[in-house]
Amino acid sequence: MELANLTIKRVQAGLSTGEFTATELQQELGDFARQKDKDLHAFLSFSDPEAQIREGSLANVPIAVKDNILIAGGKTTAASKILENYVAPYDATAISRLRVAGAWFQGKTNLDEFAMGASTENSAFGATRNPHDPTRVAGGSSGGSAAAVASGQAVAALGSDTGGSIRLPASFCGVVGLKPTYGRVSRHGLIAMASSFDQIGPITKTVEDAAILLAIIAGQDELDATSALQPIEDYEVRLREGVVGKRIGVPTEFFAEGLDPAVAKVVKKAITELEALGARVGEITLPHTKYAVPTYYILVPSEVSANVARYDGIKYGLSVQSENLLDTYLDSRAQGFGAEVRRRIILGTYVLSSGYFEAYYAKAQKVRRLIKEDFDKAFENFDVIVGPTAPTPAFKIGEKSDPVSMYLQDIYTAPASLAGIPAISIPCGQVEGLPVGLQIMGRQFDEATVLATAYAYEQR
Ligand code: GLN
Repeated sequence: MELANLTIKRVQAGLSTGEFTATELQQELGDFARQKDKDLHAFLSFSDPEAQIREGSLANVPIAVKDNILIAGGKTTAASKILENYVAPYDATAISRLRVAGAWFQGKTNLDEFAMGASTENSAFGATRNPHDPTRVAGGSSGGSAAAVASGQAVAALGSDTGGSIRLPASFCGVVGLKPTYGRVSRHGLIAMASSFDQIGPITKTVEDAAILLAIIAGQDELDATSALQPIEDYEVRLREGVVGKRIGVPTEFFAEGLDPAVAKVVKKAITELEALGARVGEITLPHTKYAVPTYYILVPSEVSANVARYDGIKYGLSVQSENLLDTYLDSRAQGFGAEVRRRIILGTYVLSSGYFEAYYAKAQKVRRLIKEDFDKAFENFDVIVGPTAPTPAFKIGEKSDPVSMYLQDIYTAPASLAGIPAISIPCGQVEGLPVGLQIMGRQFDEATVLATAYAYEQR
C-alpha cells in the first residue's frame, strides 16, 4: 500500500479489487500515522482498528476528524484544557452522515484552541509541524487535518473554517481544502466558535475527493436552523465540465501590499494557466477588502465571547473546585482557557458593551454587508474569483508572536468568510520548497463551479 498517495478513490479501488482488506488498511495506516506523529503531532487521539466491516459509498474509508467535531463516545477536546476530558455524547451531523456512508473515523486532529488561530500553535497540547519543513507551522486552525493528509497519515480529513481555518493550512501543507457556503453543511455537533461564520469542510489530496466528501456531508439538517434547503448537485459529475468560457475575476486588492512577491508570481502563473485552459480572465475590484480583517476581528470575538460563556466549570470539562460558585466559574475559566481565547473574550465583551456596541459591533455588521455587496457585484460578471490563499508560505514556529501579525494571515481568506461564499484552496506551486495555495471563490451555493475550476487546474 502506498500510503502517501492513498486517496478516497484509491482506497475504494483497493478494497473492491481485494488488493488490501479493510483491516489491513486500518492497521497499516494506523501504525504509520502513530509513528509519523512523533515528528508532526497532527493527531490528538487515534482510534483502534475496527473488526466490523462496513457498507456504503464510503465503506471502510478512513477519515481523520478535527477535534472540534463531535464523535459520540470519543474525547473531543477542541485542543483546550477546559475540555481535556470531555466525551462527546452524540455525533455531529457531518459525522453521522459519513457513518451512514460507511466511513471509519481514524482519529482526531490537532487545532488551535477552539479553532482560534492561524498556525495550530494555540493548541493547549502543542503545535503541529509542517510536513514540508518541521521547523514551520502547518497553518491553522485545522493544521492537524492538513498535516495529516499532506504527510500520508490520513487519506482525507474534516476541518472547520471560520475565517480561513480550512484554506490556510491546506495552502501551507500543499493539499486541497474547501470551505463550503455558509449553511451548506450542518454545524450541529461542531463546537461553536463564531456561529455566523463556522462551516465544516473537507481537506483532501485531490479535488475529486473533496467533491466526494462534500456530497455526503452537505444538505439541510433539522438540527441546524441555519443549514440551507438548497439542492445538492452531483459534484463528481460537474467536476468534468472544464473552464472553457468561464469568466474568472482577479481582484486587484488581492495582489496589493502585504503579498510576498514570490507567492504573487506563482499565483499569477496559475491564473495564466487557467486562461490557457480556455477561461476568460478579467481584473476586478473588491474595494472593501482592506476592511475584512478588522471587521472580522470585531465580529468574531463578539460571537466567540457569547459562545464560550457556556464553559463555566460546571456543565462541561474542567472544574476547579473553589470556595464558592463564583470562584469556581472564575478559576475554571482562568485555568482552562489559553491566552488567545481569553484575548477574544475580552475583545468581544468590550465591543459588545453598552456605549461601544454602536461604534464597533453595529458598524462592523454594516461593513460586513459592504464586503458581501462587493462580491455580489463581481459575480454579476464573473463565475469565480481567484487569488492567493495566504500572503506567504508557511512561517517558522514561534515567528508570529504578536496577535496582529497572526490575524493578518487571514487577509485573503476572511473576505469569503464574511460574505458566506464557498472557497477552495488548491496547491499551485512552491516557493523555496514550500507549497503555495490558489484560492478559488464562488457564488453562494455554487460549490460545483468552484470544484470544476479547481479540478480543471489540477488535471492540467
Ligand atoms: N485565523 C482565524 C482566526 O483566528 C480563522 C480561524 C478559523 O477559521 N477557525 O479567527
